[in-house]
Amino acid sequence: MNVANLLVRAARSHGSRPAVALGESVLSDYATLGARASRLAWALRERLGCRPGDRVAIIMKNSPAYLETLFGIWHAGLVAVPVNAKLALPEFTYILEHSGAKVCFATPKLASALRGDTGKVPSLASVIDTESDTYAELFGAGAMALTPAAPDDPAWLFYTSGTTGSPKGAILTHRNLAMMTSGYFSDVDTIDGDDAIIHAAPMSHGSGMYILPHVAAGALQVIPESGGFDPEEIFAVIERFQGVSFFAAPTMVRRLTDSAANANADTSNLKTVVYGGGPMYLEDLKEAIARFGNKFAQIYGQGESPMTITAMNKAIHAEAIRSGDDERLASVGIPQTFVEVCIADDSGNALPPGEVGEVLVRGDIVMKGYWEAPEATARTMAGGWLHTGDVGCFDEQGFLTLKDRTKDVIISGGTNIYPREIEETLLSHEGVAEVSVIGRPDREWGEAVVAFVVPAAGASITPASLDTHCLECIARFKRPREYRFLEELPKNAYGKVLKTALRDELESNTGIVPPQQ
Ligand code: AMP
Repeated sequence: MNVANLLVRAARSHGSRPAVALGESVLSDYATLGARASRLAWALRERLGCRPGDRVAIIMKNSPAYLETLFGIWHAGLVAVPVNAKLALPEFTYILEHSGAKVCFATPKLASALRGDTGKVPSLASVIDTESDTYAELFGAGAMALTPAAPDDPAWLFYTSGTTGSPKGAILTHRNLAMMTSGYFSDVDTIDGDDAIIHAAPMSHGSGMYILPHVAAGALQVIPESGGFDPEEIFAVIERFQGVSFFAAPTMVRRLTDSAANANADTSNLKTVVYGGGPMYLEDLKEAIARFGNKFAQIYGQGESPMTITAMNKAIHAEAIRSGDDERLASVGIPQTFVEVCIADDSGNALPPGEVGEVLVRGDIVMKGYWEAPEATARTMAGGWLHTGDVGCFDEQGFLTLKDRTKDVIISGGTNIYPREIEETLLSHEGVAEVSVIGRPDREWGEAVVAFVVPAAGASITPASLDTHCLECIARFKRPREYRFLEELPKNAYGKVLKTALRDELESNTGIVPPQQ
C-alpha cells in the first residue's frame, strides 16, 4: 500500500486536471506530475544509488518541486524526511545525520548553505538544488513502476518541533498516511476536483500532510510565490481560484483577520480554513468567523499522530456559533474516526468525562515509534498508547478541551492552574495583543503565575488594569502575581511560543521592559 499510489491513480483517473500552480499560474496537470514523480523515482534508484528504505531529505521552502520530490521518493520505495526550511544550519545537519539521509533536495539558497556543511554528514552523497540543471537532468532518462511497500514501512520521518531537547523523528508509515488521508474526508472536510489548496504553512509539516487528500481528490495545489504566508498574496490567490482551502496555524488566522488587505478582499472563493497545531484563542476564532463566515474547521494532532487526534468540522462550528456555545468553540472537537482517544491519570487509568488527565491516543494513525530512539519510543508509547504530553478533559458529549502541555501546568497552593485559561482571559482585554503564561518557583505557593504580555499597538495597559480584568473573569487564585511586558514573544520556526525561553528570561531578568505603573 504505497501512498504514492494516490498520485498514480490521480494521473490515471483525472490526468488533465490542473495539479500544481505557482501563485496565480497553473504549471502542470496530474498526468505530468505523475510522470515526473516516476522519472524522479527512477533517477533516485538508478542514478543516485538509493535502495528501498533509504532516507531522502527535503530541505525546501514551499515550492512546486515539493510535490514531485515527495511523491518521487515514495514511488521509489524510499523514506522522505521533510525538514522545516526555517531551521538553522546546525539543526539541518543534526536531522540529516540522525536520519542517515543519503540524498537531500534543497531550494537554491539552502542548497548552497548545506553544501558547505555536508562533510559533517557521512551518509549524505548528494545535495541537489531543485532549480539546477542537475535536477532537471534527473527527469530526462528512465521512468519506473510504483515500488510496492508494506503498510508498516516508513514513509515520512517527521521531526518534531523540539521546543525542548533535540528534535525526534516520528516514523510515519504508509498506513499512517493512508489513514490520515481518509480521516480528512471523514472528519474534516469534503474536497471536489475543482477545489484548490494553498500551501501557506510549511509543507514539511501540516500543510504537506494535506497534499495527500488533495491529490486523492485531484484538486489543485497552489504554492504562494513567496513560498510562505503573506496575507495580501493569500487574498489574491483566493480571488483567482475556486473552492480554496488551506491549513493555518492559529497565529496565521489572527494575521489574516488583522491584515490591511482583508478590508477589500473578496473571499467568496474561500471554502475552508483548517486551523490547528496550537491553541486557537476563542476571541480570535470568533473574530475570524465574523469576518470570513462559517469556513473554519479545526484539527488537533501532533507529529506522532499527524493531524489526526480530534477534529471539529464547519457544521459543528456553525452550530456552536448559532447557540452561543463558547465551551464547544474553545474545544478541539471529537476524536477522529480512526483513533481511540482516552484521558488517563498518572498511572494510565482511564478517567471519566469532566476529569482532567493526559491525552492518550491509539490506532492506525499513530506513529510506529521514533527513529533510532528506542528509549524515547518506549516512554512515549508505554502500554501501547501514544502519550501526547497534552492535558485535557472530555465533556459528556465527547468533546475534548485541551488545558495545556503536562509540563506547562502550574501548581500553585496545591491546585492545578492551566496557563491557557489565563491566556484566554488576558487576550479578551482589548489592550493585549499576545500573551503567554508560565509558572515561577514561589516559596509560599510552590509556583506563582507570571504573564508575559505584548500590548496592542497604541494601548496603554498597566498591571493594575489587567489585574482588575482577571478578577472579573477568573478565580482570584489564578490571576498572575506578576506581569512582564514584551515587544514580542519568543517563537520557534513553527511560530510556537517558546515557554522555555520565557523561563530563561525570568531567571536572567534581561530583555524585559519593566511594567508600566
Ligand atoms: P507538533 O508535533 O509540532 O505538531 O505539535 C503538536 C502539539 O501542538 C500538540 O501536542 C498540542 O500541544 C499542540 N496542538 C496541536 N493542535 C492543537 C489544537 N488544535 N489546539 C491546541 N493545541 C494544539
